[in-house]
Amino acid sequence: MNFIRGATTITEDTPEEIRAATEELLRAIARENNLDGDSVRAIIFSTTQDIYSAYPAKAARECGFEKAALFSAAEPLIEGALPLCIRVMIFAEGVLQREKHVYLRKAAALRKDISVGLTIALDGPAGSGKSTIAKALAAAYDILYLDTGAMYRACALCLKRQNISPDDAFAAARAVAAADIGVRYENGAQRTLLDGEDVSEEIRKNEISMMASTVAKIGAVREKMVAAQRKIAKSQPCVLDGRDIGTTVLPDAPFKFFITADARVRAQRRLKELEERGQTGIDLETLTREIEARDEQDKNREISPLRCAADAVVVDTSRLNIEQTVALIREKIQEKI
Ligand code: C5P
Repeated sequence: MNFIRGATTITEDTPEEIRAATEELLRAIARENNLDGDSVRAIIFSTTQDIYSAYPAKAARECGFEKAALFSAAEPLIEGALPLCIRVMIFAEGVLQREKHVYLRKAAALRKDISVGLTIALDGPAGSGKSTIAKALAAAYDILYLDTGAMYRACALCLKRQNISPDDAFAAARAVAAADIGVRYENGAQRTLLDGEDVSEEIRKNEISMMASTVAKIGAVREKMVAAQRKIAKSQPCVLDGRDIGTTVLPDAPFKFFITADARVRAQRRLKELEERGQTGIDLETLTREIEARDEQDKNREISPLRCAADAVVVDTSRLNIEQTVALIREKIQEKI
């Protein structure tokens, strides 16, 4: 007999949400563990005391677990417990070598072994989809997302405002050392600050991209940024994206991915992103060349070049959409947990 655990959360106590969340959880457990209706002997559910509009057991019948014995119980009221949570224990006939427990939505942060060590490093070239993937992962696991590229972009903006060339390493390092570069979170979204001013939009201008890559070559600048990034990552579970996360910032991160895609696909994505931000007048050819030049500079710099860590999983997103990529990464994370 195998005993498989799982949990999920809902946002509101309604029969529809309970049914949908339970179904999603059971289907994920069945998929991860190759279960069919016949192998499941019994399912026990427990729900926190703020759930009373329906029994999750009802959803199990509708998911095809028709032969299993079902039982639902309310949990005691425990202070500090995750609210609106549905937990499950599935008893299945011994078909598995090793059970895969499944924790979804806010419950992903429930398991100490999952959430405490849940540091995810995403590295890769520009336009590979890292930031969209990182945001989706952060939302799925209810953890922080740190966009480290934004910090180098803020350094570039700092130089631009003072008319300092990023090629003048000495002057650039001095200006960045004197600047206050940081991040703040608003409803879970990162805002990037330069001397207290929110520069999140301004740093997205295309002209800042190459400048950021040039300023990112400077050792003193990297030291300052890496120290700030480590401090944030140490304080809580998070997903970081950048170029050197898995190799330098967090070489011990338990989950490392190297996200890549063809240069042209990346340029197309970046063009769409720039157009959505109202930055027009840039053509695909120019953008492809710029992206390739930036990749070259990032790969060939002396300090912390863009490189795939030896223990990172390479994910080529050229032919994958975001949902497929996120699903793939979550599967890999699940395999290791
Ligand atoms: O990811 P994004 O395009 O915003 O990054 C801008 C530039 O910042 C990159 O081209 C790279 O040179 C630099 N960078 C870095 N290390 C990081 C993140 C970004 O050197 N961890």
